[in-house]
Amino acid sequence: MTTLRSIELRCPVCDNEFKSQSVVSTNAFGGKRTDFHERAAGTQPLAYLIHMCSECGYSGGESDFTAGADVSPVLKQQVFKELAPLRPALVCGSEKYEAAAKVAQWQGTDPRHIADLLLRAAWCCVDEGDIEAERYYRRHAAWMFEKALARYDGVAREERAVLTYLVGELWRRIGDMNQSRDWFDKVPEEIIDQSSQHWVVAAADQQRSDPQEWFG
Ligand SMILES: [Zn+2]
Repeated sequence: MTTLRSIELRCPVCDNEFKSQSVVSTNAFGGKRTDFHERAAGTQPLAYLIHMCSECGYSGGESDFTAGADVSPVLKQQVFKELAPLRPALVCGSEKYEAAAKVAQWQGTDPRHIADLLLRAAWCCVDEGDIEAERYYRRHAAWMFEKALARYDGVAREERAVLTYLVGELWRRIGDMNQSRDWFDKVPEEIIDQSSQHWVVAAADQQRSDPQEWFG
């Protein structure tokens, strides 16, 4: 079971106090998709791991609503200009993650972290049944992971193979088989430890020749 609880948050941008729901506990009994999307039995926790201010649209994880949050005057202006006008009464998970990705970008956060938020936006779209938005976020996540991989120190050495695989899998799910194959082909050259990373090469081979929806 996924358990949620109601929390009170104060927005560091506009000082608004609002209620949100956060995840107390969850599970991975629903299996794992081949893009690492873990599924819970019962309520899916993803949408409750990100919070959006009900007044200005500022979004992030619980720690982004604490006193230590990185909120500059410029960031405040960007939130008021770009997020506040869009803020509808009810917001779905993917929109919260998209807003959090924008905030992270304005804060100058590394592409790797922004890519993770965009990937989670795509995962939320799976539950929301919005195939078009899912593709949109997958594409932006893939580009952002590519940007992270292109940087000298954008991704830890031991994570490069798995993220290279993930970019291939994202393009496969978008339907761009050429880009997908190119990225799967790059996986072996990113391996630094055969015994612990062999599964990544095997996963890339499988998704190239006989793609599966789920791991295991
Ligand atoms: Zn706010």
